[in-house]
Amino acid sequence: MKIPTETETVERNLPPVPLSSEQIMDLFHNASTQELICQANRVCRQVHGKDVLLRGLIEFTNFCTNDCLYCGIRRGNQRVTRYRMTEAMILSTVQKGYQRGIRSFVLQGGEDRNFTTDRICRLVKTIKSQGCHDAAITLSCGIRCREDYVKMRDAGADRYLLRFETADPVLHRLLRENSLEDRLKALEDIRAAGFQVGSGFMLGLPGESKETRLKNILLCQRLELDMIGLGPFIPHPDTPLKHASQHPLEHTIRSVALVRLALPQAHIPATTAAGSLVPDGREQTIAAGANVLMPNLTPMEFKQNYLLYPGKVCLREKGIQDITRLHHRMKPLNRNLSFARGDALGYPLTNMDKGDGK
Ligand code: SAH
Ligand code: SF4
Repeated sequence: MKIPTETETVERNLPPVPLSSEQIMDLFHNASTQELICQANRVCRQVHGKDVLLRGLIEFTNFCTNDCLYCGIRRGNQRVTRYRMTEAMILSTVQKGYQRGIRSFVLQGGEDRNFTTDRICRLVKTIKSQGCHDAAITLSCGIRCREDYVKMRDAGADRYLLRFETADPVLHRLLRENSLEDRLKALEDIRAAGFQVGSGFMLGLPGESKETRLKNILLCQRLELDMIGLGPFIPHPDTPLKHASQHPLEHTIRSVALVRLALPQAHIPATTAAGSLVPDGREQTIAAGANVLMPNLTPMEFKQNYLLYPGKVCLREKGIQDITRLHHRMKPLNRNLSFARGDALGYPLTNMDKGDGK
């Protein structure tokens, strides 16, 4: 009997149904990593095809009022050279990416009071009115109040990213000085404002258990996220967690695969953190069900000061060069880079497992 090729298998199968929380739990405990990778890769190809979406990342400020224990740009780290990009610099960075074909941009920064909501709204409007009207803008600048999210959405921002970081409420408070509940409330506000919603978590935080890793996946499922970013925690030498041990990438790979099986339609990036931990970390993550890459477009003079964790890749490269390199890196995986906006595909509610995921 002829064994079907991957393409034949993909074409003949019906669109995948999201796994229930019970099925996810079963796989979490019993499936080998290889089995998870195979299943998740197949589901990803069925829903997203060969395309790997590009999102251009612009790290526009490294000022932050927060002091998250894990983060290299936390308020308390005196060694950081702080910067803020001007509106003109941000706009020209977006425009350069746009000329290169990118239609999806992520503006990320610390929780910087200098970037008031009105200022961010003006920035979004300027980007959209200065030749980039059809580009999607994702904001990732922390917790704000409900009215602020509504204003940013009204100004034309399309998506918002706010990782819940860890689904363990005790660990969350310990690491972030505020509660998981507040973070989840913000995600509710973001959804209510009409954004496409992204969240996610880190793997390997000190104090995290196997149970936490399962809860992280089930929380993504319960939140019905459009975008899910998850990557390894990498201890930063200038933070209180500098002596934490580094967990293997395998935890990230298993989680990506399970999240793909729980939420087939979600957009899942292969994170820079994965690529920084292991040279082919991003490739391994794509092979395990991720479908997004985020070339770093931040101008060189700034990106070296946006070190959330050490050993970040692409610091000496322009974002545009990164795209060319990513293109070559995707070839052996039989994937193509896609310059599409890559909006949320949305979930058919009838297929969703409505369990509470606890
Ligand atoms: N200030 C915003 C966005 C910037 S931080 C916020 O906190 O939401 C973006 C992400 O970087 C965080 O959500 C966190 O998951 C990740 N991060 C921070 N420190 C890290 C570390 N040491 N290793 C890996 N990822 C880290
Ligand atoms: Fe600030 Fe975000 Fe870093 Fe926390 S993770 S210190 S909120 S930049």
